[in-house]
Amino acid sequence: MKRIVGVMPLWDDEKDSIWMLPGYMDGVHQAGGLPVIFPFTEDEQEIDQLVRMCDGFLFTGGQDVSPELYHETPLEGLVTTCGKRDSMEGIVLEKALDADKPILGICRGIQFINAALGGTLYQDIPSQHPSETEHHQHAPYDRPVHDVMMIKDSPLHKCLKVDHLPVNSYHHQAVKKLAPSLKPMAVSPDGLIEAAFMEDKRYLWAVQWHPEFSFRTDAYSRMIFASFIKAIG
Ligand code: MN
Repeated sequence: MKRIVGVMPLWDDEKDSIWMLPGYMDGVHQAGGLPVIFPFTEDEQEIDQLVRMCDGFLFTGGQDVSPELYHETPLEGLVTTCGKRDSMEGIVLEKALDADKPILGICRGIQFINAALGGTLYQDIPSQHPSETEHHQHAPYDRPVHDVMMIKDSPLHKCLKVDHLPVNSYHHQAVKKLAPSLKPMAVSPDGLIEAAFMEDKRYLWAVQWHPEFSFRTDAYSRMIFASFIKAIG
């Protein structure tokens, strides 16, 4: 029996529909997990059932995280938010952490997890943290555009065994203040926290870059998915 990974659905406002990028599914699948897309629900009992059914959880990319989560008012650079993702994912995160089941966050995933656990975000990097580092690349998205420096002896450093990692980058929000329960694992040249983990849990890793776009060509991206599935056991 394969381990089941609950994948947070992407939301398309125009089509009023859930959707999915194949990379999230295929990244989990090629690492040996069986990915299933969650339905949208904010019902505690239903989420309880879904969390019990799954062995791990993937928090995907997508809309901006609502600044309400970290008690800020929206700035001009904030783009679209998705209230129902914020509220559903908050319940999933809480229940998955209670059950101590492995969690991987990607892009919006690191931002959402950080905000939900009491951290804050840059609502818009270009206006709040301008730098020479390219964080919002154009296609093809499996192409590295900046380095991250590994925090020595962090779980990611131990897993990948490199001090610097070239990564792709497609985000305009980022971690500002890291949540008290998270520790940094990698930092961009302009000082943004691009990977974090929770120390006292089996596995909660989150990265700001996109292994789901690069796992086909990049061994380090595959190693991140592999570490997630291995943690599920
Ligand atoms: Mn970046």
